[in-house]
Amino acid sequence: MLNIVLFGPPGAGKGTQSQKLIAHYHLVHLSTGDLLRAQITQGTVLGLKAKKLMDEGLLVPDEVVIGMIDSALQEKKEAAGFIFDGFPRTVPQAESLDQLLAQHQTRVSCMVALEVGEEELVKRLLERGKTSNRPDDQDESKIRRRVNVYNTETAQVAGYYANQHKFHALNGIGEIESIFGQICQIIDQHQRPVIESPIAATDEVKA
Ligand code: AMP
Repeated sequence: MLNIVLFGPPGAGKGTQSQKLIAHYHLVHLSTGDLLRAQITQGTVLGLKAKKLMDEGLLVPDEVVIGMIDSALQEKKEAAGFIFDGFPRTVPQAESLDQLLAQHQTRVSCMVALEVGEEELVKRLLERGKTSNRPDDQDESKIRRRVNVYNTETAQVAGYYANQHKFHALNGIGEIESIFGQICQIIDQHQRPVIESPIAATDEVKA
C-alpha cells in the first residue's frame, strides 16, 4: 500500500496536488477538512460543533478527526493506498495514524511538505475565498490565524516524520506540473523495492 501524507500550511496547494496524485497513483483522497465540511452540510451535531472552530480558523479536537479517519479506513479496505490531506495536524494525530494504519497492516510511506510563505498564502486564500464559499477563506485575520495555528501547532508534525526518515520538503511556489513532478519523484523513491546486495546475501549464506 502507498500512503502519502501531503503536508503544508493552508493555501500551499495540497488540494490541487492531491487531485493529480489520486489520478496518477489510484489512491483514495482523505481530507479531514472535506470530511468536516460534509458534516456541516449534513447538519450533524459534530458538524455544528466543528463549524464554530473552523470558522475561527482553530483546530477541531484530535479525537474528532481521528475518529473520522478511523471510519474512512474501515470503509475503504480495498484501497490501493491513501493521500492524507490536512491530517495529521498534531503529533497525537500522527501517533494515532501510525496505530490505525498498523491495524490495517500498513504504514505511512512518506510525507511531502509544500512550503509557501505567509504573504503568498494570504493572497492565494483571499483569491480562493471569492469562489470557495468558505468563511475561513474570506477574512484576512482568520487566514492569518490559520497560518499561525499551522506554525505553532502543526509544523512540529514534520519532526515526527523526519525522525522516521520519511519527511521531504518542496518549494510550493511554481508551476503546478513542475511541483507535481517533484512530488512523484519523491514518492517513486519510496516505492522502489529494497534490493539486497549480492555480497551481503553471500555473507549471510556463509554465516
Ligand atoms: P482544511 O480544509 O484542511 O484547510 O481545514 C479546514 C479547517 O478544518 C481547519 O482550519 C480546521 O479547523 C479543521 N481541520 C481540518 N483538518 C483538521 C485536523 N486534522 N485537525 C484539526 N482540525 C482540522
